[in-house]
Amino acid sequence: MVVGRFAPSPSGRMHLGNVWSALLAWLSVRSQNGEMVLRLEDLDPDRCRPAYCDQLKDDLQWLGLDWDREQTRQSQRTDAYAASFSKLESMGLVYPCYCSRADLHAANAPHASDGRLLYAGTCRHLTEQQRREKTKAPAWRLMVPDETITFTDGLQGTISENLAADCGDFIIRRADGVYAYQLAVVVDDLEGGITEVVRGRDLLDSTPRQRYLYRLLEGTPPATYHVPLLLAADGRRLSKRERDLDLGILRQTMTAEALLGRLASLAGLLDRPEPVSAGELVRYFHWNRVPSRDIFVDFGDFC
Ligand code: GLU
Repeated sequence: MVVGRFAPSPSGRMHLGNVWSALLAWLSVRSQNGEMVLRLEDLDPDRCRPAYCDQLKDDLQWLGLDWDREQTRQSQRTDAYAASFSKLESMGLVYPCYCSRADLHAANAPHASDGRLLYAGTCRHLTEQQRREKTKAPAWRLMVPDETITFTDGLQGTISENLAADCGDFIIRRADGVYAYQLAVVVDDLEGGITEVVRGRDLLDSTPRQRYLYRLLEGTPPATYHVPLLLAADGRRLSKRERDLDLGILRQTMTAEALLGRLASLAGLLDRPEPVSAGELVRYFHWNRVPSRDIFVDFGDFC
């Protein structure tokens, strides 16, 4: 059976782009008679607020996007992340990194295609003595092999990345003790038996790292569908911080059916943006209708 998930971060109200990803994730699962799981990704205590958790659930219910079970929220799962961290450590693949943000910028070239920093491995070869001399708390990095990871994304096609050349050793636990998204998401998807991940295309470049973690943790990676982003006319991505067309605004200006109809027409599921319920859309859904490229949206249509 297909098991999909909503994995929202309660760091703000859902915006139009979050609704878009949630709708496609839900339609994919429901069209395959699968199971939908909700997991609140409140990993980062600096950004997440409990009040947003209730709001997220209320917003999903308002949209008619239901779920069959809820996984334990990430802030309660530290022991599980610690166990996987120890497993990786016992494989000799984890080391402490003392680099500051300024060190990283000075030592590491931004990756040409997307501006990501490529970690140069500065702390990989520190001796025990050098580590003892450090006074600050380290972040913890996972060593990556010089190997190309290739997989097929259901929407974006074949993706290849050489982890050493394109990413470098990456952080799995921050200096403040918080486990990194990359590790937590894999541990949780494994625990939840998730077989299908639908999320924004902005997370596509995390997938090779996550697939490497699946291999080390001896799990089967889920199928992925990285959906296009909705962009403002000037090419800007929507952001929670800017409160871009979030559900607080949208719920005042339109019904759930009107909103879903507009999104369904952007997804190629309806010819015209007619009001429709989520349940009615299930029979129109097919991945081969959904575009793979980012979509410019006239936000005026949503206000
Ligand atoms: N929590 C992440 C977000 O809200 C999604 C992570 C994922 O789908 O892997 O952007």
